[in-house]
Amino acid sequence: MTRKFLTILLTVFPTAVIAAGQPPAVFRAGAATSNITPPLGASLNGGFTDRRATHVHDELHARCLVLDDGTTRLAFAVCDSCMVPREIVDEAKRLIRSATGIPPEHVLISATHTHTAPTAAPVFGSDPDPEYRKFLTTRIADGVRRAANNLAPAQVGWGVGKQPDHVFNRRWRMKPGTIPPDPFGDKTDQVQMNPPVGSPNLVEPAGPTDPDVWVVSLRTPEGKPVAVLANYALHYVGGNPGDHVSADYYGMFAEALAQKLGADHQDPPFVTIMSNGASGNINNVDFRGRRQPLPPYGQMQFVADSVAQEAARVIASIRYHDHVPLGARTAALDLAVRKPTRDDVARAKEFLVPLAGRPPRSAPEVYARETVLLSDYPDKVELILQSLRLGELTIVAAPCEVFVEIGMELKQKSPRKPLFLISLANAYNGYLPTPEHHKLGGYETWRARSSYLEIDASPKIVAKLLELIGSLH
Ligand SMILES: [Zn+2]
Repeated sequence: MTRKFLTILLTVFPTAVIAAGQPPAVFRAGAATSNITPPLGASLNGGFTDRRATHVHDELHARCLVLDDGTTRLAFAVCDSCMVPREIVDEAKRLIRSATGIPPEHVLISATHTHTAPTAAPVFGSDPDPEYRKFLTTRIADGVRRAANNLAPAQVGWGVGKQPDHVFNRRWRMKPGTIPPDPFGDKTDQVQMNPPVGSPNLVEPAGPTDPDVWVVSLRTPEGKPVAVLANYALHYVGGNPGDHVSADYYGMFAEALAQKLGADHQDPPFVTIMSNGASGNINNVDFRGRRQPLPPYGQMQFVADSVAQEAARVIASIRYHDHVPLGARTAALDLAVRKPTRDDVARAKEFLVPLAGRPPRSAPEVYARETVLLSDYPDKVELILQSLRLGELTIVAAPCEVFVEIGMELKQKSPRKPLFLISLANAYNGYLPTPEHHKLGGYETWRARSSYLEIDASPKIVAKLLELIGSLH
């Protein structure tokens, strides 16, 4: 075939070339958001005790992105939720597969970890409403289906910036004898989570922070923004009334970035997704007390604008590809549960007797109830781990509130770079401290439905993820 003839053929009959066995691989992207705001009165989780929604400050969304390299499709759905449990993820993935053909292993569903969203997984004093769970499941699946409907030729690129000003390690070494006893009555904690701001007893944070601001940017071949998938290791911002519904800084980041890119009011709409990195021990409190307090929602907006500023700076310098190969692998990993002993359970039950059925209020009461509930857990649980590939970029996902050290270790040890981690993905299996942090104790290690995996869970998860990355490229 002469070059001239091929050019004519490609221009006039692009499908003829596909039939001739030379598919011009077209990379496509589509994005959509599903509103997942609950009615007022919904149970809101994120604290020890349950709260009920009295106001919606800003709407909640499942922010969805579908990518297609011509043979393989990947889907992302990041939800304004504190955590999305395995049952919802599995059912949403089943609906997605039957409507779009995208296999569950190629779909990543995660929670942003806003603490002002409806309860989707039972945790501490909050239990989910079955109707909201059904609604959330359908809305996630619909969001991915609509993103697939919007698939259109696109270019993809990625890059990383730094924003160290909003991330603080929240576990602190304190002056000897100043750490309060844990809720089980033991005085063995060597670190304190969220110590009082400006406390004279502060010694030093018990770990690092990760300032990376990751962005994966999709645009049309003409350069119009389509979607951005971002990643930052910040637990959440908060500072708003606990009975409000709000997507926290994740939602404000999306609006701020759309404005900065001049991409608001597009059709189909531009979609920004902020996924949560390894932020289990990272929050937005400057414990040294050097910060002026802002009114409710002020701090969130401040963080959102500042991180969006950095994301926009990175996007301006991204080198786009017309096509990259996509891939995905998932693996199941069985891990032991840190179950309470028979004595622990007996003591907890005795402790709960005087409550006479009323909901627990104090931390010792909450953790006594957690001890009883955990005694019904199986001895082992199955975790879903995932590794996705966009060309040379690797995204790994774990179903936990992953400690920052683990995300940094994966970034450093991965045989394929660059890499970032999306936490709280594909299920909810509680906090993931390192074995060293288990030795230090503190809130994130206290045995409850929010922290129950075996002490050696993190090295096993890291090893499995590294294995997955190796098999993917
Ligand atoms: Zn959390």
